[in-house]
Amino acid sequence: MNEHLRQIKTFYQEAFQTLDGKRDMPEIEVEFYPYIGINHTIRVRHGKVFVRLAEVCRDIPFNAHKALAYILVSKLLRKKIPQKTLETYRVFTKNQKLQEKVTENKRERGRKIITTSRGEVYDLDEIFNYLNQLYFENKIAKPTLTWSARKTYRILGHHDATHETIAVSRSLDDKKTPKYVVEFVVFHEMLHIFHPTEHRNGRRYNHTPQFRRDEKRFAHFEKAESWIGRNVKNFKVKSKKA
Ligand SMILES: [Zn+2]
Repeated sequence: MNEHLRQIKTFYQEAFQTLDGKRDMPEIEVEFYPYIGINHTIRVRHGKVFVRLAEVCRDIPFNAHKALAYILVSKLLRKKIPQKTLETYRVFTKNQKLQEKVTENKRERGRKIITTSRGEVYDLDEIFNYLNQLYFENKIAKPTLTWSARKTYRILGHHDATHETIAVSRSLDDKKTPKYVVEFVVFHEMLHIFHPTEHRNGRRYNHTPQFRRDEKRFAHFEKAESWIGRNVKNFKVKSKKA
């Protein structure tokens, strides 16, 4: 973690200390995230706090970051946010340069290719809903689901956190592919949403032990792995987190 981020993290620790000093300090992870606009998220998973700050706000001054920390932590703890804190933060989000960045991001998103979840044989939307209910208590917010534009063979699935998209190789949209194989690829990518990338010592961990454990919960795990091993050469279920 770099110095800038480390400093920002201390604001979150301070906000927790100030707003909820009675409880033990939770473990906090702060990262910048390429949201299109000025969005930030804070959530708790397994007792750990995950903060994602809009990339466009990276360079706002520290006092604005500090105000933002108090705003997000207040929201999490359902505490009232002092007007002054809101104002401190808002002054910087109205900044013209920042607004220009947001406009540019939106323009870029507009250039994105059109996606389709309904294939010739399988409907990714339907598969997602089925898996979400069966394995995730419907807790995963639906990303954009799409069959890849080209028939890639090496990469069967792909989770793009930047655009909240799961893409599945069109090579699998085939009557010869068992449904559990398509389900397994979607399931794997859903796990990437469920277990966000962990950062330790400057490294990113996508397939953590917990991820691998959960992957085995898939009812046809071994059958699916073995089918892929037999039918897809050098396959790789790949995840990208930008
Ligand atoms: Zn993966």
